[in-house]
Amino acid sequence: MEEKKDALREALFYSQKQGYDLIGLDERLALEAYCEDYKAFLNAARTEREAVAEGIRQAEAVGFVPYVRGMALKAGDKVYRSVRGKALMLAVIGQKSLAEGANIAAAHVDSPRLDLKQLPLYEDGELAYFKTHYYGGIKKYQWVTIPLELHGVVTKKDGETVPVVIGKDPEDPKFVITDLLPHLGKDQMGKNASEVINGEALSLLIGSIPYADEGKDRVKLAILSLLQDRYGITEEDFLSAELEAVPSLDACDVGLDRSLIGGYGHDDRVCAYAELKAIYETEAPERTAVCILADKEEIGSVGVSGMQSTAFETFMEDLCDSQGVKLRHCLEASFCVSADVCNAHDPLYPEVSEAPDRNGAKLNYGMGICKFTGSRGKSGSNDASAEVVGTLRRIFADNAVVWQMAELGKVDQGGGGTVAAYMGNRNIDTIDAGVPVLSMHSPWETVAKFDCYMTYKGVKAFYKDR
Ligand code: MN
Ligand code: MN
Repeated sequence: MEEKKDALREALFYSQKQGYDLIGLDERLALEAYCEDYKAFLNAARTEREAVAEGIRQAEAVGFVPYVRGMALKAGDKVYRSVRGKALMLAVIGQKSLAEGANIAAAHVDSPRLDLKQLPLYEDGELAYFKTHYYGGIKKYQWVTIPLELHGVVTKKDGETVPVVIGKDPEDPKFVITDLLPHLGKDQMGKNASEVINGEALSLLIGSIPYADEGKDRVKLAILSLLQDRYGITEEDFLSAELEAVPSLDACDVGLDRSLIGGYGHDDRVCAYAELKAIYETEAPERTAVCILADKEEIGSVGVSGMQSTAFETFMEDLCDSQGVKLRHCLEASFCVSADVCNAHDPLYPEVSEAPDRNGAKLNYGMGICKFTGSRGKSGSNDASAEVVGTLRRIFADNAVVWQMAELGKVDQGGGGTVAAYMGNRNIDTIDAGVPVLSMHSPWETVAKFDCYMTYKGVKAFYKDR
């Protein structure tokens, strides 16, 4: 009788298994090798521009070529288009016509950070600073007293664009935003956490030696003189610059068992890399495989390089034109995995997500599928249909991809969005799926290696079997 009951349980209950109980030694080794490559990618890609540049470098090494409008394309051809150096789209042409749709995976490569203001340099108390305006959703108090680097470009009046990277090379100096000592923090500590650090006080300390001269702003002058020598720029050049302060923290293993990876910008370069690796290994798929690394997701997917931009349609239309297919017919038959990170259940903060083993994603349980995101009753969410979830469920079951359902926190606890809604609006069946993350949007986020690997495996299976 007991035995019969257990069999019934086994047959009827949905139960999830810990990922490490599901893989053998071969996959364990593959997982470790994959994560070594991912850490190297993350270290080479601190910004959206660097992620695009690194993606192009790697893609060209495996045979991708820049798409030239009007190019004849045949099954197996590998092409890419850079969207002004800030977003990237790659495609491997399929055996079937684009009229039967493409398999699209869309991740984003921008991450929360501190952008320099357009006139950033000032001196106060004989110290020089760069003023910033934060980009994306951050807890401001996490960005003080950590080492920061500057990455970006300055476009001069003559049109020349100069790349700037300061703080990455071990020989380089770094930057910091200072905080109040606890001894004098009585008033500060009584404030609401969103006000502990004032947005206008997120200024990088950049120097303290005055120029050997009379007059005011001598430290500022000395800094400008350094910048002139090294980069040939003046204060006016900052007006047309795009400089991003990012954590000066390399990705590395976390935990005695080395099962986790700490790093800046896992959201969403961890999914971007999964897509890249998957498309590098996709040869003449049945349907055309498309990999998108979008920009501007963290501020609403807006702008020319964001997922709402018609840069996507333009690329897809070019591909469709080469086969005499109407773009809209292709999109209608396409399927998009919006590959973005989801929230992992954090035992230190159990109150914000459902109990483990229910609807929250957990580390080491595989790729997290989010049927919906949004907030206050799924508002602003793509909310994939049962059929769309079913499609991925079938593909993952056929390819031994370990996955789990994910939810962005308890009902009414908050929420968020991804590029999924913008793909859905284009009449493309779309679903969110990606890597569960701890401390999302912090300067140093944590992911589990197992989930990184399964996300790559999931995207690869999707390219092959949808
Ligand atoms: Mn994201
Ligand atoms: Mn994000």
